This record gives sequence, C-alpha cells and structure tokens, in this order.
Amino acid sequence: MTSEAPNILGELLLPVPEPDNQPYWDALRAGELRIQRCASCGELRHPPQPMCPRCGSFEHGWSLMSGRGEVFSYVVAHQPVHPALRDKTPFATVLVQLEEGPRLASNLVGVEPGEIEIGLPVEVVFHPVTEEITLALFRRAK
Ligand code: ZN
Repeated sequence: MTSEAPNILGELLLPVPEPDNQPYWDALRAGELRIQRCASCGELRHPPQPMCPRCGSFEHGWSLMSGRGEVFSYVVAHQPVHPALRDKTPFATVLVQLEEGPRLASNLVGVEPGEIEIGLPVEVVFHPVTEEITLALFRRAK
C-alpha cells in the first residue's frame, strides 16, 4: 500500500491549514499579514487559537499588520534535521517581533545567516509555495 502525505511538496513539509488558522492562510494568499485579535480585550495573539489567553473570550477578528518588525531572536542550524534540508545548511530560523507586538517564527530572504543580528529591521514578503499555501517570509527593511 502506498500513501502520499498531502502536506509534502517535494520533500519539504508544508503547513496544513485548520479551522482556527484558515483566515491567517487566506490573508497570506491575498498578500496580507493578518493576526488574530480578541474582540473582547483587543489582545493580538499568534499562533491562532480558539480562546484568548488573556481574557478567555472566544470572539475574535483578524487585524491587518504593517508587515514591519525586527529580529527578536534567531538560531542558525548547521546540521540538517530533516532529509529535505540536507543541502540547505546552514540556514537560519528567526523570531520576528512585529511592530504591533506579536512574534512569528519565519525565515529571512536575502540575508545570510552570518549577517543576522538581534534588532535587524525587517519587513514581510509573501512567498507562494502552492495554490493553498503562501508563507510569510521577511527581508531587510528598506
Ligand atoms: Zn481577550
């Protein structure tokens, strides 16, 4: 019996949208970075989740972000932790703090791992991978 996981493009694992985060992926596909905002207390939260961790409300909307932020933290991987990453090391995973506050784990484009520093100003770039999935990557802010 053979089976093919629907979330694999080539060998790379892709996110699988779920009801709680489908609006996030829909916005990225439309070229917008939207973050879940509690309709009761206004708290922005990411990753998306059903209930506000601050006030417990289940009501929420999706706020448009500027796409600007800075590198809050990062790690450079030198060992491939998955066969698909065999020829891609070293690569960096960054934690971007948006100017509105939430933090997103992502990757930088056009910045070598050795050039990354805490506080580096960045801006979002929309990277379509499939018809369904567009990733929010970041580049040096202009
Ligand atoms: Zn709340």
